[in-house]
Amino acid sequence: DLLVVGSANADLVIRVDHRPAAGETVLGSDLATHPGGKGANQAVAAARLGARTALLARVGDDPYGRLLLDTQRASGVDTDAVLTDDGPTGVALITVDRSGENSIVVSPGANAQLSARDVRAAEPLLAAAKVVSVQLEIPLDTVAAAVRTAAAAGTRVVLNPSPPASLPADVLVACDPLVANEHEAKLLLRRLPDGPPGAPESWAEGLLALGPRSVVVTLGAAGALAADRTGMVRVPGVPVEAVDTTGAGDAFTGALAWRLGAGDDLEAAVRYAVRVGAAAVTRAGAQESYPTAAEVTGR
Ligand code: ADP
Repeated sequence: DLLVVGSANADLVIRVDHRPAAGETVLGSDLATHPGGKGANQAVAAARLGARTALLARVGDDPYGRLLLDTQRASGVDTDAVLTDDGPTGVALITVDRSGENSIVVSPGANAQLSARDVRAAEPLLAAAKVVSVQLEIPLDTVAAAVRTAAAAGTRVVLNPSPPASLPADVLVACDPLVANEHEAKLLLRRLPDGPPGAPESWAEGLLALGPRSVVVTLGAAGALAADRTGMVRVPGVPVEAVDTTGAGDAFTGALAWRLGAGDDLEAAVRYAVRVGAAAVTRAGAQESYPTAAEVTGR
C-alpha cells in the first residue's frame, strides 16, 4: 500500500567530548553502526506500525548493504525492489558532542546511483501503491521521475524536501502533502534561519503558494500544522521526555503516508503521525526507536 522511494545509509556514530576543529584529532567512544537514511527510516516506521510497505532504493554489495536489507526485512518491509550496486552503500559519518549536537558527513554511495530509469522499471509498483513517499537524499532527477510516474498513475505523493533543494513546479504541484520541518520550510521559502521569524502559519501559507495540494509543517515538541486550500489546523505535540530526536521526522512522515493511504483525512493522519513522532523521541536511535501500533494507541 505504501511505496517509499529513497535513501538507505549506514549511520556510523562516535560520541566525543567536543567535535574536532580543522586539523585536530580527538578520541571518542566505540563506533556504533545503525541502519539509517530517510527512505529506509520511513519504510521501517510504516511497516512497524502495520503498513504493507515496500522500499525502492539502492545499497552496495557490502556489509552495510546487508545490514540495511536485514533490518528492512526484520521490520516487515518488502525489499524485492531494493537494487544492489557495485559501489559502496551510502554512509553517514556522525560525531555527537557532550551537549548532543552533531556534525554529519554523508557519502551517498549507492544512493547516488538510484536513477530515473530504475523508477521507470518499477512503474507497476508505483502504480499499484496507494501512496508513494519520497525525500531528497537521492538524485533530483530520480525524485522527479518518481513523483511524475506516481502522479500519472493516480498514486498519491508525499514528499519531504530534505535535504532542502529547489524542485520543478510540476513536482511541487503533485505533492499531497509536502512535509517540511521548520528548517526546511524556511529554506524553501528562502528565509534565512535567523531572519524575521514569522509564525508557522505564515510558512504553511508560503509553502501552499508554491503549488502543492497540501502542506504539513512539523514543529518538534509543538506538534505539526496541516494546511490545504480549505483551511489550516494546528495539532499540538504529545508531551514526552525526549531522549533522542534522531529520525523523528522520518517516523512522522512514514506514519503520515501510511495513514493517508489507509483513508484518513489529512488532519487525522497528522494527529496519528504526531503521536508516532513523539514515541520515536522517547528512545535512542532512529529505526530502533520506532513504535508499534499498539505503543501508539496505548499512550
Ligand atoms: P525533524 O525530526 O525532521 O527535525 P521535528 O523536529 O519537527 O522534525 O519532529 C517531527 C515530529 O516528531 C513532530 O511533529 C512531533 O510529532 C515529534 N517530535 C519531535 N520532537 C519532539 C519532542 N521533543 N516531543 C514530542 N514530540 C516530538
